[in-house]
Amino acid sequence: MLLEENTSIDTEQAKLDRLFDDAPRRPLLYPWQEELIRYWIKVHFFFLALNTYKNFKKTFEVLKIFQEFKKKTFGRDGERKITLKNGKIWFGIHIPPFPSKNFNKYILTEFHRYVPHSRSINTFQQVNFAITTKCPMRCEHCFEWDNLNMPETFSLEQLQQLTKKLQNQGLAHISLSGGEPMIRYEEMVKLIENGNKDTHWWAITSGFNLNEEKAKRLKKAGATGLVVSIDHYLPASHNKFRGHKDAFNHGVNAAISAGKAGLMVAISVCVTKENANRVFLMNFMQMAINLGADFVQWLEPKAEGHYRNKDVEMNEGQIQLMEEVYEELCHNPKYRKYPPVMYYGYYQRRIGCFSAGRSSFYVDSVGMVHSCPFCHSADFKITDWLEMPAISGKEITKCELY
Ligand code: SF4
Repeated sequence: MLLEENTSIDTEQAKLDRLFDDAPRRPLLYPWQEELIRYWIKVHFFFLALNTYKNFKKTFEVLKIFQEFKKKTFGRDGERKITLKNGKIWFGIHIPPFPSKNFNKYILTEFHRYVPHSRSINTFQQVNFAITTKCPMRCEHCFEWDNLNMPETFSLEQLQQLTKKLQNQGLAHISLSGGEPMIRYEEMVKLIENGNKDTHWWAITSGFNLNEEKAKRLKKAGATGLVVSIDHYLPASHNKFRGHKDAFNHGVNAAISAGKAGLMVAISVCVTKENANRVFLMNFMQMAINLGADFVQWLEPKAEGHYRNKDVEMNEGQIQLMEEVYEELCHNPKYRKYPPVMYYGYYQRRIGCFSAGRSSFYVDSVGMVHSCPFCHSADFKITDWLEMPAISGKEITKCELY
């Protein structure tokens, strides 16, 4: 039993349930449907590898490495939860849906990392681009803290040039963040509308002023989904953490509106030391069900940005507990109705970070390129790339965890 009863939480939950009545629900698959889909994907992987390597030995080699990678990422047998939405199968927010040509290219890029081949791959699997410095929130953990509300760095034209250049090199996923990207909502819509749809466009937002009409326009423009940051299931606690009196309402309304508009919805939570316990995690996951979330992203606090030089990182006991709950949520059939959790700390402690500075990077709101939002390497200005013939002319610091 993971969840302990707590009267005050139940009372809050009853209030929230009324707020969540309107939310669409994440469709649940029968176990036999999930099994069938997993079998289909295994067969697909086999033929994708065989068509790529034209060689049984290399095919089995890459599939074996891939299976080991899945075990270290998702624990136990390596099987992961699936979300079925808009007629596609989704494994996470950074992986294109299956079946699609983008999914195949994403997987071929991963295969190439394990066993090199000569087929076309993405130069980048994911880029997180902070398109504005402006933000109405003041979050405790903000990694853009030093840049908040400085004069804007990028014009819409520059954003279009830069994202196009990245897309031309092969890019599976681009996240638009900030600051708060909703502050530049109209330009964000234009950027997505005019961008290449081979890239999946997501927005990372506090949900500020995002209603159903705006969500529908984002969907129509070609956006794939939203990552909405909600850091507590209790409104007052979230508002305090975010330094904004209506932060919780903005987040909840955005998640529900995005679900109704047919966008993918991921809820992102920074699990602080104070909240690294079973009651918090399970009540949070219950809120995610109520919101109709397709995924939940657990982030661990890092001593960067507003948290710089602060004792915010979890101790061993807290990490162990988070990992135990994660494994249960991933694999215990009792928790089938809970949305899939993405927990990067879990696999990074087992296989390192193979992504930051290699297949992904972060552009902050003043244009500096970093390994990732949590590792500020400040390598160079992204606008310098506009004058350069190839992106490969500048080096991005690679994550040392690898
Ligand atoms: S974390 Fe995001 S929403 Fe919060 S203050 Fe920083 S930029 Fe704004």
